[in-house]
Amino acid sequence: RGILVTEAVRGEGGILLNIKGERFMKRYNPKLMELAGRDAVARANWTEIMEGRGTEHGGVYLSVTHLDPELVKTRLKTMYKQFLLAGIDITKEPMEVSPGAHYYMGGIRINIKTETGVKGLFASGEETAGVHGANRLGGNSLIDTQVFGKRSGEYAAKFAKSETFHPIDLKQVEEEQKRILSIAKEKSDKIRPVKIREQLCEVMWENAGIFRDENKLSSALSFIEKAKEQMLPKLGICDTTTWRYNKELIEALETINLIKVAELLVRSALIRTESRGAHYRTDYPKTDNKNWLKHIVWHLEDGVLKYRFEPVKITLEKPPQ
Ligand SMILES: Cc1cc2nc3c(=O)[nH]c(=O)nc-3n(C[C@H](O)[C@H](O)[C@H](O)COP(=O)(O)OP(=O)(O)OC[C@H]3O[C@@H](n4cnc5c(N)ncnc54)[C@H](O)[C@@H]3O)c2cc1C
Repeated sequence: RGILVTEAVRGEGGILLNIKGERFMKRYNPKLMELAGRDAVARANWTEIMEGRGTEHGGVYLSVTHLDPELVKTRLKTMYKQFLLAGIDITKEPMEVSPGAHYYMGGIRINIKTETGVKGLFASGEETAGVHGANRLGGNSLIDTQVFGKRSGEYAAKFAKSETFHPIDLKQVEEEQKRILSIAKEKSDKIRPVKIREQLCEVMWENAGIFRDENKLSSALSFIEKAKEQMLPKLGICDTTTWRYNKELIEALETINLIKVAELLVRSALIRTESRGAHYRTDYPKTDNKNWLKHIVWHLEDGVLKYRFEPVKITLEKPPQ
């Protein structure tokens, strides 16, 4: 576990070094060096670590010691203070960094009004898809939340004004209560949410993380299927006396959703036989604009997951062929 080191460090002139003191980005992207895209830098860092040129803690060095200390203290003020708290003066010593899961590019399909496929349900921010393409640029999530957050608020308010309340489907409410109760019921062989989450995190990081291939993704899918069939039916919590402010119950419900999201991610990554942005497949390392300028869109049909392709709308920027 660690803390986030802002990309501004690279922007201000920070350099990446391996354990041998080599500025390794020259082997990966001699033109852009540390200013290459975040997916390319993450892959370079991870390759250095995996090939034994990382630090003893499994990282590489990010150094600003060659920069004017005053510039570091003013332009990278938060980083400077943050590392001082950990006993490291970054004007004198390099930082140890390693890639981490940071953002989810897939999500709910929305239109320009932030409407989803469910009438009256609006979505914005990281839970949506298509705003950032295959790789979000640094800082753009903030802009996304401001632009689409404002829009969804406005369109939702407009929609609410034009609508009247619909009768509540009590059968649906009962089914949902039953589902939640089945988790909150006392079970002798229960599996607590934290156990499933820990395993899911590890499996996803190892098999659907920076470098993917068919074998790894298939093994992630096997785990997800096992989790659905064998673990989720036993999902249980310790405090079964109350539903109110029951954090573990919330965690359990989230775990079910995490498994669903992981399944969609892994299935899509298996289907997409190319590399694009943060989706990098070692068995298909090239971007294939001829065949893959399309989105993979999932939906449920009678409880079964189905997908379709939707073409990417190309406006100003034309992708290279
Ligand atoms: C370490 C880190 C650093 C980052 N740094 C940057 C950066 O420098 N610049 C940048 O642009 N982006 C950055 N990002 C990305 C950015 O922070 C996120 O993409 C952004 O905060 C997402 O905002 P959001 O409102 O869509 O979702 P969230 O911030 O995740 O908000 C969702 C909210 O919904 C709540 N919620 C969930 N389920 C329920 C429920 N059932 N009922 C009610 N509430 C619920 C959650 O508690 C949460 O408060 C960073 C991300 C990480 C992880």
